Amino acid sequence: MMTSPDATPGRPATATTRKRQGRARDIGVIVIAAAVVLAMLAISGQVNWPAALIGVVALGTFTFFWFFGTVDPAQETGEDEAAAEIAAKRARAAQERSFRSALVEALSEPTMYIDAQGKVEAANAAARKQFRFLGADPVLSAVVRRPELLDAVAAVRKGEGPQRFEFVERAETDRYFSCVAAPLGGGVLVSMHDLTDIKRAEFARVDFLANASHELRTPLTSLSGFIETLRGPARDDPEARERFLEIMQGQADRMRRLISDLLSLSRIELVEHRPPEGEADLASVVREVVEALEPVAAERGVKVAVTGLDNAVMVTGVRDELAQVVQNLVDNAVKYSETGGVVLVDLVSGVAPDAASVRAGRQWAEAGHMSIVTSPGAARGLSAALRVTDSGPGIERQYLPRLSERFYRVDPGRGLRPGTGLGLAIVKHVVQRHRGELLVESEPGRGSAFGVVLPMAKATNT
Ligand code: ADP
Repeated sequence: MMTSPDATPGRPATATTRKRQGRARDIGVIVIAAAVVLAMLAISGQVNWPAALIGVVALGTFTFFWFFGTVDPAQETGEDEAAAEIAAKRARAAQERSFRSALVEALSEPTMYIDAQGKVEAANAAARKQFRFLGADPVLSAVVRRPELLDAVAAVRKGEGPQRFEFVERAETDRYFSCVAAPLGGGVLVSMHDLTDIKRAEFARVDFLANASHELRTPLTSLSGFIETLRGPARDDPEARERFLEIMQGQADRMRRLISDLLSLSRIELVEHRPPEGEADLASVVREVVEALEPVAAERGVKVAVTGLDNAVMVTGVRDELAQVVQNLVDNAVKYSETGGVVLVDLVSGVAPDAASVRAGRQWAEAGHMSIVTSPGAARGLSAALRVTDSGPGIERQYLPRLSERFYRVDPGRGLRPGTGLGLAIVKHVVQRHRGELLVESEPGRGSAFGVVLPMAKATNT
């Protein structure tokens, strides 16, 4: 585009315009000086008019040629255009740079822009954190050591088009990234998508399916085996048939328990992100559950004692889900106690959250402790604390962190009690949904205590 040498309003003057303005000012001064001299000569009556006329014409000719003759307009216009072009290029480059930097900053995933010289021109906070950047405009290979990423950037710079790739950042916990490197304005834009959570969920799902099918297949295989035996060798043996049928009943019960626990778990997981809205009387829940488990405890020769059930203890929560928590904890305490053992179920209400945590799961100085669920929600307002203590074998310290994992059972070789390994996982999810706390303390030889802290219902929380 051609640029006019004349200055227009709102636009900076070109070099030619500036030179001409300067010369016009000089000529103005000369003309005024000549006019003053002429006027003084005229006043003093010494003016020679023909000579003055010649002088004015000579001065006019000189100034005309000086004004237009000493500058090559073509050369001046060329210089102006080149200067304007350089200025425009610089302005464009600065504009593009700030556009790229705004684009990179606007993305939440780790993103960076590598310029034509291989320097990281822009990187957003996520990328700086991921690669621990120091200094401005570092060379890419100095901050990123991933060969996949460096190769992809090199390929884009060679003109091979956008590149997609994945890599795993091996650390204490592995992090998975899916990335795209694409050409942009002479450089390369690299954007990384953190797949860690998705991958973890995928692994957990695969693990869970494998475990669930294994747990279901075991009793099923045993059932088919007994059916075959009953049809074949034991066909005419009424005694064996009775014994086998009893075992088959046990296996069928196990499958039913497994399926029912799996369903409970998936139901609670579906609503876990939504805090419960209703209110429930925890005292009456505990009373009902303990009454229902009385025959089981009696059969095992275990005594269940309860305290703190005299008044209603209103908590924010879903009654059925809370009943499942109490049921699983008391059932475990009874199940893992030896004959003659005592299970204590203690409920307190209206305590400050910190005191409630101590009351629920921090009473034995020598025991191993673990907070399975910690909740910031429990730090607000008054709480209710439930503690289920048994005098069973206890759980060694190193196993405590794994207790609420699905299908996890402590030392299966030690003689398993009937169970699914899902009970504490269900408890954990319910407590999480209720913004509560789940604690355990255990000492081999003394027993175990599981504690739950729940926020009191609003009406009672004054
Ligand atoms: P399960 O159905 O096997 O009881 P849970 O999820 O309820 O599954 O418990 C997981 C494991 O934790 C149990 O298999 C058991 O080894 C251990 N456990 C749970 N409660 C107690 C307890 N009160 N005393 C000793 N061990 C326990």
